[in-house]
Amino acid sequence: MSYRCDACGNKTRFDVYETKKVRAFHHFTLAGDDTVEEEEVFASEIEKIVCRWCGATDVSAGDGPDTGVTDPASSEAR
Ligand SMILES: [Zn+2]
Repeated sequence: MSYRCDACGNKTRFDVYETKKVRAFHHFTLAGDDTVEEEEVFASEIEKIVCRWCGATDVSAGDGPDTGVTDPASSEAR
């Protein structure tokens, strides 16, 4: 998974706004210190991605090379 800003070409610095639903095991000491020892993510959704360079939200997510594969079965008239 990688991102690319369509406006300025930035590929390395983004603010990612993400909503997560998690279960977290909070372990408190008697002194009141809190440590999260375990976290399980049920759902996570990325709401928007903002370029750190130019502030644009026109960010493309690329999860790999574009193969451009077409389904051969769908083009066969039957
Ligand atoms: Zn940008």
